[in-house]
Amino acid sequence: MAGRTLTDAAAYARLDIDVAAIVANWRALQVAHGGRPTAAVLKSDAYGTGAPQAAAALHAAGCRHFFTAHLSEAVEIRALVPGSMLSVLNGPLPGTEAEYVAHDIAPVLGSMADIGWWAAHARPLGKKLPALLHVDTGMARLGLSPDDVTVLAADPAMLAGIDLLYVMTHLVAADEPANPVGHAQLRQFAAACAKLPPAPRSLANSSGLFLGPAFRSDLARPGAALYGIDPVQGANMQPVARLTARVLQVRDVPTGGCVGYNETWRAARPSRIAVLGVGYADGFPRALTNRGAAFFDGVRLPLVGRVSMDLTTFDVTDHPGLAAGAWVELLGPNRLLADVAAEADISPYEMLTRLGRRYARVWHG
Ligand SMILES: *Cc1c(COP(=O)(O)O)cnc(C)c1O
Repeated sequence: MAGRTLTDAAAYARLDIDVAAIVANWRALQVAHGGRPTAAVLKSDAYGTGAPQAAAALHAAGCRHFFTAHLSEAVEIRALVPGSMLSVLNGPLPGTEAEYVAHDIAPVLGSMADIGWWAAHARPLGKKLPALLHVDTGMARLGLSPDDVTVLAADPAMLAGIDLLYVMTHLVAADEPANPVGHAQLRQFAAACAKLPPAPRSLANSSGLFLGPAFRSDLARPGAALYGIDPVQGANMQPVARLTARVLQVRDVPTGGCVGYNETWRAARPSRIAVLGVGYADGFPRALTNRGAAFFDGVRLPLVGRVSMDLTTFDVTDHPGLAAGAWVELLGPNRLLADVAAEADISPYEMLTRLGRRYARVWHG
């Protein structure tokens, strides 16, 4: 407790994470998937919200399929999701076989080399090892090409020793419902699966869940929507992250005075400037220079001057009641993640996953 008190007292800003909202979002996504199995993608520390907390809460709610991007991320949460499938999207690296086996983690095999690697490891063990097979249908990042699938179909013994849990593919533009590429991917995916040994299929990410019944599968893989990012307009996911920061000082700047590096903002009237201990090193985008805002007590406080590494400045002239020690909102119900990301010209995914490590993180629910 003493350590916790010190952390909170020393924190210039805090990030409140509503874990109950993550669980509620997962349940809503399961409904959107027609009640079918729905995994949780926990890569990049659950998009910056805290993978261990999200994993434990989702497992308690009944989620039994989890994905990370890195093996290290999967190892970190293995003990929190007993009896569940845990898989690594980025694919295996040579030399990691023993770790996959020791922690019962299923690699996603996305190349012929990956398949050869896992089958070669299974052979001397004399037992089948679990894996997912990733088929590329247009993303051209990871996954077997159509030619690879043809080669594999001609020689199914290449998969000997592999317990094929799912065949998966990843949608290119599920957030653009009118884009025909999704239906082309469905056709390619069906063609590939028809050539491969029968196995359950995994398809939709968050936005794919809102494309209709044709995009349902044996296992959906949402990430972003769990953490409050609306995959399509009107999806109404519950917000998860709230960022507040304390005012370190409020200072007067006379007419004509400048604020911050390189004099990018000049006071047009006698002004009062509030200083927060949050900067671009905390993932608060530098692109918000002279564009962003904070929110306090019903009032929008424009961000003025450059966002520095560790400090940011706001014009609070119109809020005379604001004093040092007040906590102002940087992300939350009045500063929506999607709006702040748009002001910074980045995606909400990037905004969330950038949020820095220096915040006091508090998990609720
Ligand atoms: C990140 C990722 C997901 C989750 O995508 P969201 O858009 O965040 O729902 C699913 N599948 C793969 C292969 C991914 O890389």
